[in-house]
Amino acid sequence: MSGEKLKIRLTPGRLITITIILAAFLSFLSFETLAQGTKQADGALQQTPKELPWPTQLDQRACAREEIYFPAVGEFKVLKGDFHCHTIYSDGQVTPEVRVWEAWRDGLDILSLTDHPEYMDLAIGSEKGRAFARVRPLALELGMILLHGAELTTINSSAPPHSDYAVSFITNELAMRGDFFAAIQSAREQGATVIWAHPGSNWTEEATHLLKQGWLDGIELRNAQTAGDQGTSYQQGAWFYPQVMDWCLQNNLSAFASSDAHWPLSDYYKGERRDMTLILARTRDQVGVKEAIQQRRTVAYFGEMLWGAERWVKGIAEASIEIKGTALIRPKGKIFGLLVANQSSFPFKVLFTAESEDAWFRPTVVRLAPRATTMVPFTLKRTETKVSSMPLTLKLSNVFSGRDQPVQLLRSLAGHFEAKKEFKN
Ligand SMILES: [Zn+2]
Repeated sequence: MSGEKLKIRLTPGRLITITIILAAFLSFLSFETLAQGTKQADGALQQTPKELPWPTQLDQRACAREEIYFPAVGEFKVLKGDFHCHTIYSDGQVTPEVRVWEAWRDGLDILSLTDHPEYMDLAIGSEKGRAFARVRPLALELGMILLHGAELTTINSSAPPHSDYAVSFITNELAMRGDFFAAIQSAREQGATVIWAHPGSNWTEEATHLLKQGWLDGIELRNAQTAGDQGTSYQQGAWFYPQVMDWCLQNNLSAFASSDAHWPLSDYYKGERRDMTLILARTRDQVGVKEAIQQRRTVAYFGEMLWGAERWVKGIAEASIEIKGTALIRPKGKIFGLLVANQSSFPFKVLFTAESEDAWFRPTVVRLAPRATTMVPFTLKRTETKVSSMPLTLKLSNVFSGRDQPVQLLRSLAGHFEAKKEFKN
């Protein structure tokens, strides 16, 4: 019955009419849904600043910070910082939030955002506070020392060749635009530190000028962005500017290792630790960091190497490496194990030498694993020997106080040990 009725009702004309009505109704419905969706999306966008003062991709996921530890050197804490990087506020490709998260994840204490002021009106020109103002609250929340910086270039001054200088601790970024020397003078008047970035092969006239004015604090010994470029040499897994160590020592300047990252950090570092500058600071704050740079207490850390003035690289090694004692590990062979603790997160590479006729170390470099105790074998030459004190030299093959100047530590192994030992249960 119902089939007959349907047959009667569904004439071709009626079918077309129904189809048109149905299509109109459906399109009206979807328009309403879309309109509501747009309203909701707009609403969400409007609420975003309130709910998420620092938008980031990481805030909904677990994120681990690597704790990089160095023992204090005397009264100085060893802080870790990157004093040169870029964001979307100049020619960088990531937001300032990403830079802060990366630095936190990578175990840094200090980050200076050094965007080029030339981009100020092009890159988000309406935000005069720029990257620093935008992420300062986030950095504070994460316990990071965030520095307001800029990278000044000589391209707009009359002095060739073109060089760049990373300044930190500025207060007025607007004053950084225009003539190079005027900008750098303004930076100094604001209390900024000045670091010569990716310096190339040769010392320059303008560096001399800045030095004479007392306007230069340090030079990049390593810059990840320019690794492999002119003026860099390859050693122990890293491209860097070894000549810079001479320049630092000759002119009492601080050595720096910076990322100069423009892209995400993962584009520069594949599993290895990022480059960083160690700062030996009295206090873990901006005042402490600035004073340490002004007093030249910095060490460049890159490619499993430490480079800096002897006092500070040696100080870090002395504080980190502790000889805890010996153990007789093969009585017949008269072989002992020297127990060497490395308190730091840095893998010191050491050649041990006994400055005595009585003992012998294999002449190979031993890697002291970070935060671990390494047993280094040595042989006592005579069974009868009773040793109460044995001088040792530790040649650190990855810690440098100058070009071709690996740091050496002298230790005296105290305590009695002899190869004739009787074990009783
Ligand atoms: Zn740069």
